[in-house]
Amino acid sequence: MNLGHLLGGLIIATMVMTGGCASAPRPARDVTGSYYPDWLATAPHAPVFEVRDTVNKYGRYARETKHIDLADLIRFHGHFCGGLVEAAVSLRVAFDALFPDGAIDRTDLRVASNNSACGGDVAAYLTGARARFGTHLIDPALTESEFVLQRVSTGATVRVRIRPETYPVDVRAQMRRIEAGHAEPEELERFQALQWEYARRLVSRPPLEAVMRVDAGPYAWPEPPCRDLGRRRDNDFRGAVPGGGEEPLP
Ligand SMILES: [Zn+2]
Repeated sequence: MNLGHLLGGLIIATMVMTGGCASAPRPARDVTGSYYPDWLATAPHAPVFEVRDTVNKYGRYARETKHIDLADLIRFHGHFCGGLVEAAVSLRVAFDALFPDGAIDRTDLRVASNNSACGGDVAAYLTGARARFGTHLIDPALTESEFVLQRVSTGATVRVRIRPETYPVDVRAQMRRIEAGHAEPEELERFQALQWEYARRLVSRPPLEAVMRVDAGPYAWPEPPCRDLGRRRDNDFRGAVPGGGEEPLP
């Protein structure tokens, strides 16, 4: 046996002993840490979501839904912030109206938000809407916490926003102060403290106590922010059955 064969055998033996790369045990899900504090993870009214997608490209509806929580949103967005929690709570109220059975159909939604980095990310992740396919519209007239959602197949439309008594005047004022040039470390620290305090208030009460539905129509949907790059096709066969026709949602 030459050295190459010996090394190869050792590598294979090591993979068998450890279960190999493909079947190595997955690490426990990281749901703690500074980016996802315990108080947020255990908050009594932290919003969670069940979403339905297709099983693959050109696939039909998946029978299983996926569970999404604030940790998932933070991983996608990049940080935990007041705007992320505010958007999640607001959209929770909108989904409750559009999907009373609980499962959010991410193949069938369009949404309008303002251009907030935080709220816009949450809207895209939870709805499946995408700016490049013309389903995530940007409306500067909407506030940071305001969203218009529509089930494309039925036309059912909901508009939600934070209640005036919940609106975080102090957070927004500090945000404007920083953007006006007062970006010293203590100003940034104060902003973080204010927005986390706001987030704590939001997840300590039922969403409907912080968010209200407002009259959605007739809402003038803005023009898509991107030029026409082609429409989305991967969900076209979500309801198809062999031999033609449509089957109901699972
Ligand atoms: Zn953010």
